[in-house]
Amino acid sequence: MNRLQGKVVVVTGAARGQGAAEAAACAAEGAHVIATDAQPFATETEGVVQRTLDVSRDEEWAALADWLRHAYGRVDGLVNNAGINRRARVGEVTVADFDRVQAVNVTGPLLGIQHLAPLMPPGSSIVNIGSAAALTGHYPVAYTASKWALRGLSRSACLELGPRGIRVNCVHPGFIETPMTASAAPAFREANLRETPLGRSGTVAEVAAVVTFLLCDASSFVTGADIPVDGGLTSHGGTKSISDALLPDLPEEDS
Ligand code: NAD
Repeated sequence: MNRLQGKVVVVTGAARGQGAAEAAACAAEGAHVIATDAQPFATETEGVVQRTLDVSRDEEWAALADWLRHAYGRVDGLVNNAGINRRARVGEVTVADFDRVQAVNVTGPLLGIQHLAPLMPPGSSIVNIGSAAALTGHYPVAYTASKWALRGLSRSACLELGPRGIRVNCVHPGFIETPMTASAAPAFREANLRETPLGRSGTVAEVAAVVTFLLCDASSFVTGADIPVDGGLTSHGGTKSISDALLPDLPEEDS
């Protein structure tokens, strides 16, 4: 559709999963895409330039910003997608694991905004990839705390960058089929689907579609928003199991 024709878009954590799909979707919309990741890329995508970047490292962001300034002179879009999980609960999580999750999931996006916002003209857009865990109490504490913090960062950045015409939004995926969720216990998947009104998992393409919308000018008055892409997972506040439990026995007059 070319909604991002000629725009320069940086995507982090783009070697696989949602990041790879977001990079490909932006390229399909006509953007010059710079796909970055800490791990090597297994495949090439047309229209996508690949660069190494550990989002938690300030000096690597500085080097990327320098290269972008020389190569393109500006950045129109940033997708802070890279994220990691540690599936430990409050009583078990180590401080080292807690800190590493914050470093990648929160400090990474902060550094990205600090280094790339100076290159952004009015009309630019930043999309931070949160999670259903950013909208609920979720059992992996480091991950949940980091994604709630990312929402706070997004709101502060929205306030600060708004006067420059730069938008900042958060997308919150539910259960999406990626290598991250493939490594979870089968019970985690089943429980997620039970709590999801649409009754299925999501695809990376369904997340990428919302990300490209937020990057393009069709969303020019949308900023500071939290947008779930979760099949309704976070919409019911935990009441789906109550609804489901009562459904078979519901008397006609109560329905
Ligand atoms: P994934 O694990 O499949 O891919 C994550 C990518 O991030 C990998 O390529 C990895 O190498 C990269 N990465 C990790 N640490 C990095 C670092 N320090 N610097 C740069 N890159 C790094 O995960 P995914 O499922 O595609 O998740 C993408 C984003 O969506 C994450 O922020 C995740 O928290 C979020 N999310 C995913 C789901 C889901 O169901 N899959 C749900 C909610 C939120």
